[in-house]
Amino acid sequence: MEGVSKGSKLVKEGGDGRQEGEGIVVKKQNVAMGMDVLDCPGCSTPLRPPIFQCSMGHLVCSSCRDKLPKKACSVCSWAILNRCHGMERVVDSIVVPCTYADHGCAEMIPYHQKREHEEACPRAPCFCPEKGCGFAGTTEALLDHFVGTHDWPMTRFQYYMPFDIQVKAGVHVLRGSKDGHLFLLRMVWLDSPLHGVSLVRVEPHAFESKSWCSVGFSWFKGHYQISMLDVIRSTSLSDGLPTDYFLTVPEACRGGGARVVMRVTIDTKGVYGDEDEPEEDNEDESYSEEDDDDNDSDDDEEDGDDDYDEEEGEEEGDNDNEDEEEEEGEDDDEDEDEEEGDDDDDEESWEKVSNDNDD
Ligand SMILES: [Zn+2]
Ligand SMILES: [Zn+2]
Ligand SMILES: [Zn+2]
Ligand SMILES: [Zn+2]
Repeated sequence: MEGVSKGSKLVKEGGDGRQEGEGIVVKKQNVAMGMDVLDCPGCSTPLRPPIFQCSMGHLVCSSCRDKLPKKACSVCSWAILNRCHGMERVVDSIVVPCTYADHGCAEMIPYHQKREHEEACPRAPCFCPEKGCGFAGTTEALLDHFVGTHDWPMTRFQYYMPFDIQVKAGVHVLRGSKDGHLFLLRMVWLDSPLHGVSLVRVEPHAFESKSWCSVGFSWFKGHYQISMLDVIRSTSLSDGLPTDYFLTVPEACRGGGARVVMRVTIDTKGVYGDEDEPEEDNEDESYSEEDDDDNDSDDDEEDGDDDYDEEEGEEEGDNDNEDEEEEEGEDDDEDEDEEEGDDDDDEESWEKVSNDNDD
């Protein structure tokens, strides 16, 4: 601390403001300049070290230089000889604010790194997908906006822990309890009685998502279906609400009129660190084990239903003889067609349900 305090932060404001470090003198001043003088004349991107020049002093970036025939200057045809250390110092010293300063980014970035920074800036905005709204903000601001302005229901969930969502047309906001990540579950009424379900993760920058999701639901006694979304797409929502449905689900239970409830589990790699991650590779088996345990402890009398994810086909018979035959037939026609594609590698239960469609 003593070493630093000895004059390293002595800033004189004013036209000739000097900042004195340990033996280094840094002048700082706000200037206005035409930024194009900092761009490569060849490719118009900001010059960054190494910068080269011909003997007449024309500048060129290193990738443009590599493309020049015989390394001859494109302006005067003299050979490009040297690095231009003076210009390298200049471009390294010019810092600019992040474009997303309004959204809370306080970084000052070398001009030639501005684009890279902004492509990864954590304060870059995401967009409200509601038609005509136009709100943009960080994911936290967006969450407040969704709930406060649009009244969209919100559920906090824990990764790896199933939670229930009632089937109902509209948008449901989901928030990971550990990392605060924002997800949007959308249900759209398609064709009676089915709703299309889509799920995205809201992020300012597209990246390779490590999150995936499984959804189970029962439509009628003896029926249980599980669908997987292997990769939850990430989006800034700049292109509006998601329309890529990975699942169709009926709104009401057959006969009863009660709403169908989806049991949703969202998993993400890396949240718990490698040792604790319950299931990474063998999604299907471990899902059903985990599911059984949970059901024993908390809810329901319908344990039987939940067991079906493993062996639906066989167990159906035991459970209710009356329903079995007609129900199964109808079920095939109306419901499952889209899902089995994804789940081919699943258990036998799927084959039974999906045979006619695959043929
Ligand atoms: Zn260039
Ligand atoms: Zn030249
Ligand atoms: Zn930024
Ligand atoms: Zn909005």
